[in-house]
Amino acid sequence: MISGMLNIVLFGPPGAGKGTQSEKLIEKYGLTHLSTGDLFRKHLGEGTDLGKLARTYMDQGHLVPDQVVISMVEDKISTTKDSKGFIFDGFPRTTAQAEALDAMLISNGMKISGMIALDVPHEILKERIKERGKTSNRADDQNEEKVNTRIKVYLDETLPVAKYYEKQDKYTSINGVGGIDEIFEEISEVMDSY
Ligand code: AMP
Repeated sequence: MISGMLNIVLFGPPGAGKGTQSEKLIEKYGLTHLSTGDLFRKHLGEGTDLGKLARTYMDQGHLVPDQVVISMVEDKISTTKDSKGFIFDGFPRTTAQAEALDAMLISNGMKISGMIALDVPHEILKERIKERGKTSNRADDQNEEKVNTRIKVYLDETLPVAKYYEKQDKYTSINGVGGIDEIFEEISEVMDSY
């Protein structure tokens, strides 16, 4: 068992601010950022087979199949040495992914410390993604229909993941509307309670 490790699931719908808050958390707590969206975008940029496969789902706002995501995360965890812990950002997005994550952490002598969920109303999410789309160069940020699909996928497939951690008493929700630093303070308080 690697004691003192902090493994956090940063949770929330697309546009909730997970990426922004992750950056600040990495800086403050020295954790390893594991964003499945970023990993897929890296593969996409490098034109790998995995990137080509992921693109067909990502461009439509759909989820990449569980087994593909799980293998990629397993690979990242097993090749990361001497980490103080992970911030999982955009993963797990289905209950099957959450179960697989628990299994892979247990087999590495690790566990999830807690899930921190950023709560943001849908109308604000849409505005934020529209704004981000001006500079993000992400096909899935550019089109209103795709954004709506991503929010629907979140509600149908990803929201049950919150229940999964709630049942384990590992769930905390935070108001994700407000100043970046103000939200970060609240997240830090939860982090410091682990
Ligand atoms: P994100 O940057 O987290 O918004 O992810 C962008 C896109 O990558 C998503 O809309 C999905 O198509 C894909 N993706 C990222 N993470 C996952 C995941 N955990 N499971 C399935 N698909 C994912």
